[in-house]
Amino acid sequence: MIIRKLYKFEGAHIVRNCSSVPCRENIHGHSYVVEVFITSDRLDDGFMVMDFGLLDKVKTFIGSFDHSYSLWQGEDSDFKQFVYRYNRRVAEIPVSPSAEGYALLFFYVIDRILKHTDFQNGEGRVQLHAVRVHETTTGYAEASRNDLRWIDFTFKDIHFTAGITEQWDSVAWWDVMVD
Ligand SMILES: [Zn+2]
Repeated sequence: MIIRKLYKFEGAHIVRNCSSVPCRENIHGHSYVVEVFITSDRLDDGFMVMDFGLLDKVKTFIGSFDHSYSLWQGEDSDFKQFVYRYNRRVAEIPVSPSAEGYALLFFYVIDRILKHTDFQNGEGRVQLHAVRVHETTTGYAEASRNDLRWIDFTFKDIHFTAGITEQWDSVAWWDVMVD
């Protein structure tokens, strides 16, 4: 059985080194749609794979990119300084903020969130199956478990500014996953 939950965020970025000049040389934004697919080997006591209510941290995490600037860690220091100086909501990430980069990053983090979720309703082996990130209405990138081999970063490489974390209920849920 497979379930899917959809999230949306309005995000700004530059995708350095991509082929498209407008995309690699200008700050611009997209209305992103993120689909999270989850599987299990059996249904819980409510005849569900899992209750979507247990995905509150996934909502918080993806919401952290809403009205935020996604800053690639590889930008030069002048540009980073500019971004931090004039933006309150900055997500500094170790992957380029392409749809592929987001899909990989989101898979990595949401997988960890699920592993830290306390299931108490007879759920089976709940597993993240795929994360699909739509940058436009016509194209998406999808990451699955096999793509985790491309992960060459850790949680410590992901940073959210106070403008983002002050919207969270607490930072404890994130700190637990970093360890
Ligand atoms: Zn773009």
